[in-house]
Amino acid sequence: MAASAGASSWSGSSGGSTSSQGRQLATAQPAQEERLVVAVRVRPSLEATERCIEVISSGSLLYDDGGKSRPRKYTYDHVFKENDTQEQVYKTTTAPLVKDVLNGYNAAVFAYGATGSGKTHTMLGPVPRKKPSTADRGPTAVVGYEADVSSQDIGLMVRAIEDIFGHIEAAGPESSTKVSISYLEIYNELIRDLLNPGGPLELREDHRGQRITVAGLSEITTSSRKEVVSLLIKGNKARTMEPTAANQTSSRSHALLSITVQTRTSLGTKQGRLFLTDLAGSERAKKTKNRGKRLQEGAHINRSLLALGNCINALSGGARYVNYRDSKLTRLLKEALSGRCKTVMIAHVAPESKHRDETKNTLVYADRANSITTKLQSSV
Ligand code: ADP
Ligand code: MG
Repeated sequence: MAASAGASSWSGSSGGSTSSQGRQLATAQPAQEERLVVAVRVRPSLEATERCIEVISSGSLLYDDGGKSRPRKYTYDHVFKENDTQEQVYKTTTAPLVKDVLNGYNAAVFAYGATGSGKTHTMLGPVPRKKPSTADRGPTAVVGYEADVSSQDIGLMVRAIEDIFGHIEAAGPESSTKVSISYLEIYNELIRDLLNPGGPLELREDHRGQRITVAGLSEITTSSRKEVVSLLIKGNKARTMEPTAANQTSSRSHALLSITVQTRTSLGTKQGRLFLTDLAGSERAKKTKNRGKRLQEGAHINRSLLALGNCINALSGGARYVNYRDSKLTRLLKEALSGRCKTVMIAHVAPESKHRDETKNTLVYADRANSITTKLQSSV
């Protein structure tokens, strides 16, 4: 393992295949119409109660607003129902991106949704939680949990890393591949290193605003999948957790894992990056009955999720100018979203009717992005 911290580059390249000798490797450009995939995942009901969601196919669902009007049908690229497995979700959404990353492209997966809708379950897996004690409350509180990495329920982050190492092993000894990871959180517009927790880190841009770096962020190179998995679990332990009325251990931060794969072959060097993001809960501030600091967190979260949605919509609509500057989240993800990157949005919803309003908000957020790509596809 090699750890480096200094002017660690969050944005090592502008995406696509590059060569250390400045030679561009010829690899096929991902098709334009595949740039944004929008999926909705319905988590299992946590109680026997009235429902507001019915999945009717692998690409559509019905939403019931409580009888005020007829159930409305929503259509997405994929809809995962309650008993769909982590493996199914991985194979459909993330496995195709891993292949692109190994070919030198950038790709991003976002888990979006209200607190308690299943984002962390998808990205990390089931996480046994301890009840937060008084000492756990506060901005730097750590709620301890361990993930069982052998579990069928292990999430996309670990599966992606496993898959990358599997491809590298299958490629044989003639290609030399370096895998490095960095893991950070954005909490209240402050960036913290989850692999080496400490004070807030600064975001730096070059004079052209092209290259974004996080000063002091650790980038860890490893050739052992076991080591990466344990780093990930350690990183998750360091994530800021804030008890809110909506969920005792809800995470009020966005967690961004970046996996960089650099392959040296006789033709040159190519680098691809996979960004896996467990976004902060998208619920409106009033739901969490928060005042003061919690309300401020909510404002930051809503602003960054809105900025992310605007960027995704602008990109999938083919806009010439995309504004990444509205939040740290979008500034950091500029590399992932622009250029030849493919993006997958997995919107998470709870099926219980008491979560009807948040479920609707999430379906609409995902539908906005999805309808723009559908328009784009039908016009090419
Ligand atoms: P979020 O990260 O969006 O706040 P969590 O991932 O913590 O939500 O999920 C909330 C609860 O629902 C957790 O107890 C989690 O284990 C459970 N859960 C979520 N999605 C699933 C799923 N697909 N299968 C089984 N349990 C799930
Ligand atoms: Mg979570």
